[in-house]
This record gives sequence, structure tokens and C-alpha cells, in this order.
Amino acid sequence: MTQTEPEATSKEVLDLTDRKALVVGIANEHSLAWSAAEHFRNAGAELAITYLNDKARPFVEPLAQELSAAIFMPCNVSIPGQLEAVFEAIRTRWGRLDCLFHAIAWARKGDLHGRLVDCSADGFAESMLISCHSFIRMAKLAEPLMEKGGSLMTLSYYGAEKVVDHYNVMGPVKAALEASVRYLAHELGPKGIRVNAISAGAVKTRAASGIEHFDELLNETARKAPLRRTVDACEVGRAALLLASDYTTAITGEVLYVDAGFHIEGMVFH
Ligand code: NAD
Repeated sequence: MTQTEPEATSKEVLDLTDRKALVVGIANEHSLAWSAAEHFRNAGAELAITYLNDKARPFVEPLAQELSAAIFMPCNVSIPGQLEAVFEAIRTRWGRLDCLFHAIAWARKGDLHGRLVDCSADGFAESMLISCHSFIRMAKLAEPLMEKGGSLMTLSYYGAEKVVDHYNVMGPVKAALEASVRYLAHELGPKGIRVNAISAGAVKTRAASGIEHFDELLNETARKAPLRRTVDACEVGRAALLLASDYTTAITGEVLYVDAGFHIEGMVFH
């Protein structure tokens, strides 16, 4: 039986038993990556979890323990060798990888809070390297470990495609990330590796607190979205589980919106 031929069962279940998953981007229990990791674990996956640095470790370590993570390592994608070391540990321990969840983004405060017009070249490049190119690097490192196929996921936001006040430099960076998803899906598809993005609605996390007027963004989302509410991290985690599972074996190159429908609205009068 291949991944594309589900066993005929009377009960539908999302099952990741024996799957190996790498989750990069947990800062604390509010992180979208934490919810994804919890859902992967609850579905039976074995996990590799990373933390940014020694300062972040005390917040992430108890969460990794709660998930019984088999691999727990530092990973700052800007420090040469750290990402490669994580994949080497995965190769040594598991010999393969089934699922990767990339949930990292960063921009210099001055660039994030300023106009795109004023964004520094260095700051733009740095944000692009951390928030977008790191996903491409992870795809390259994952490819040889996904001989039987796999699922690569990243997180985007509506500001990639439409102007969202105060999202600034992250808009073009997320646009590049979404385009990268399509190109990676095209290139890795013949190997059975699926590549998708989740475009998450606004959720109060540490990264989100760096965006000015974030509370107004939440209020506006709840006012305008068809479901008349914001989303929570758990809903993003569940969508991640869906994309990691065999329920989406024919879905690749996609941007899946988990935003209470916010993105479909144009001019609304309520
Ligand atoms: P978060 O602060 O919990 O997570 C951001 C993570 O990025 C942190 O774990 C941080 O350590 C990591 N990171 C930053 N620089 C890094 C580097 N150099 N190397 C490795 N890791 C680094 O916030 P979050 O909201 O869960 O963010 C996760 C992803 O979700 C981001 O890509 C963000 O843009 C995206 N997203 C968030 C929202 C939202 O409203 N919260 C909406 C849509 C998309």
C-alpha cells in the first residue's frame, strides 16, 4: 500500500504513528509551532524540536519534554552549521524525515516598524534570509531524508498578497515565501514531497507583539471575517496536522487559509 492508497476503514482518523517530524519555531506555549507540535505528537508522531538560543531554552525545554521529543537542539538559522547539525542528528537517529514545520520569521525592529520605502538593504536581506530562505535551506536538507515522500509546511500571512497596515517589510518577505512554496512544490513533487503554506489569521504570539497596532488588527479581523472572530493557535495546529497527514496527499503548492475566512472579504459594510 502506498501513501496515496488509504486503507479502507470504517472510522476516519488522522494518524501520524511512526512518522518523524521536525518543528522549528517554538518560543513558548503561545507559539503556532507549539500547537502544531502538540497535534503531531497526539497523532503519534515522534518529534525533533529546536530552540533559538540559551535564552529561549528554559521556555522551550519543558514543552519539548511534554512532547517527549526525541531530538532537542539549538537552531538559530543565522548561525552557520546549526541547522545542518539538526538534520545530521535526524539522519543519525531516524535515517529519515516525514514532516517539517517551519514557523520562524524575523525583521529588525526599525524595518518592521518603518515604511517599506525606508527599509535598509541589510535589514531586508536579513529578514529574507531568516524568514524565507531558511525554508528553502530546510527543504534542501530534508530532500535526501524524504525518499518515500513527505510534507513540508511553512506559515504565511494575508499581508503577503494585500497591503496590511503595519506589516511593512514582512509583506514582501511573506510574498517571497509563498512563491517559494510553489517553486519548491514544483521541484520536489516528482519525489512525492509536498510543500504547502498555512496563511494563518492574526494570533497573539511573541512575534505578533512586534507588529504595531496588533490589537487593532485583531479587532478588525473579528469585525470583518465571515466567522466574525479571530482564530486561535489550536486551529492552526489542526490544519498543520491535516497537511502532515495522508488526508492531503494530493495537495501541494497550496496556501491554505486558516483565518476565519478573512481573506475572501473585499468591500464590506458591517
Ligand atoms: P513566535 O514568536 O512564537 O515564533 C517565532 C519563532 O521564530 C520563534 O520561535 C523564534 O525563536 C523564531 N526565530 C526568529 N529568528 C530565528 C532565527 N534566526 N533562527 C531560528 N528561529 C528564529 O510567533 P508565531 O506567531 O508563532 O510565529 C511563527 C510563524 O507564524 C512566523 O513565520 C509568523 O510570521 C507566522 N504567522 C504568525 C501569525 C500571527 O498572527 N501570530 C499570523 C500568520 C503567520
